Amino acid sequence: MNPSPDLHAHSTASDGTLTPSALMARARAAGVAVMALTDHDTLEGLPEAAIAARSQGMYFVPGVEISVSWGGRTIHVVGLGVDHDNAVLQEGLKGLRRFRDWRAEEMGRRLAKAGYPGVFERAQGFSNGRLIGRTHFARALVALGHAESVRQVFQHFLVRGKPGHVAGEWAALGDAVGWIRAAGGQAVIAHPARYGFTRSKLRRLVAEFIEAGGEGIEVVSGSHNRDEVLTMANLARQAGLLASAGSDYHGPENPWIELGRLPPLPAGLRPIWHDWPLRLPAETPSALAEGS
Ligand code: AMP
Ligand code: MN
Ligand code: MN
Ligand code: MN
Repeated sequence: MNPSPDLHAHSTASDGTLTPSALMARARAAGVAVMALTDHDTLEGLPEAAIAARSQGMYFVPGVEISVSWGGRTIHVVGLGVDHDNAVLQEGLKGLRRFRDWRAEEMGRRLAKAGYPGVFERAQGFSNGRLIGRTHFARALVALGHAESVRQVFQHFLVRGKPGHVAGEWAALGDAVGWIRAAGGQAVIAHPARYGFTRSKLRRLVAEFIEAGGEGIEVVSGSHNRDEVLTMANLARQAGLLASAGSDYHGPENPWIELGRLPPLPAGLRPIWHDWPLRLPAETPSALAEGS
């Protein structure tokens, strides 16, 4: 078993390509012992993932990745250990999905005007019909022959200044952290090196995040190189944030990110799981018996 938890991954509930069950099976096959599901702005995959993970003998962490507008940019905040049935979190996420639906139609209109008709309908076909994102548009544009890869689509169509871009109007940072806490979870800044922030802007983000009740930061991420891991480890130590680790796995189509391959956390960090009851389900009865 891989002792390092994987606390960031996606399923078909958002923009991943494996169902929650298939994702958990793949994690188990890769030797992951502690696995989270953190879909974008939805909790829909959690019940299925929980059953699958526990039946495979893994410790399951119910999570979410919330889209946040901060400092004129979109950032992501992961919630770990959230209660699937919490109404505050559910309502907050529902609002974000309403924006997603509007944004998708607007992206479709803009792309059509730019000479790429029918992309919205095609993107919908790549989604589950309840949550739509830019990744579904990227797959649609590739399928329609307008680009060679998902990566290329983002570069040429979906980022600021490109024809399919629509500015994000996501949750406020304090709201996202508040919803996570209301649901009993721990808030974690996702893939901090991806935002292209200056050091001072990143420090400002961390300060506001802690002020709002945020606890952790992804030091190890599938999208961090070795230098970025060390930079974020320093930031975590200085700010007193708990350290998290997650692949940000989206499916086997991205072979450069795999489950169960994360490097260990650098030394001198307190892992976000330091006080979790990390017992595998199979061990729970005897553990309970010990306590009684
Ligand atoms: P959305 O939340 O719908 O705006 O989409 C964000 C998602 O798009 C991210 O979680 C990634 O899965 C994907 N994404 C963003 N930028 C890129 C990129 N440059 N290449 C590939 N995928 C990307
Ligand atoms: Mn994604
Ligand atoms: Mn993200
Ligand atoms: Mn993610």
